[in-house]
Amino acid sequence: MKIKKDDNVLVIAGKNKGKKGKVRFAYPEKDMVMIEGINLIKKHAKAKPQVKQAGIIEREAPIAVSDVMLICGKCNKPARVGYKTLQDGRKARICRVCGEVVE
Ligand SMILES: [Zn+2]
Repeated sequence: MKIKKDDNVLVIAGKNKGKKGKVRFAYPEKDMVMIEGINLIKKHAKAKPQVKQAGIIEREAPIAVSDVMLICGKCNKPARVGYKTLQDGRKARICRVCGEVVE
């Protein structure tokens, strides 16, 4: 998948369009990502001994990876991701804007 955990991304579609955040979890098998502070849903939580706060809690719900774009750490722009093979044989992601390898 083109987006990984800890990537900074820009949401380009849907109701969170234009927001930026850091990927908290990636779900490659579903092509979904969960992003910090994006797509919050309200959940009702019951009071349990280990949960002090009962009532409504907010948490992130995953969104489709096709709705986000990687923000390149080198040029700081939303970038399409390409791939290239490094000299040691590893496949690396590259930023299509500046051409730099994105780790
Ligand atoms: Zn770049």
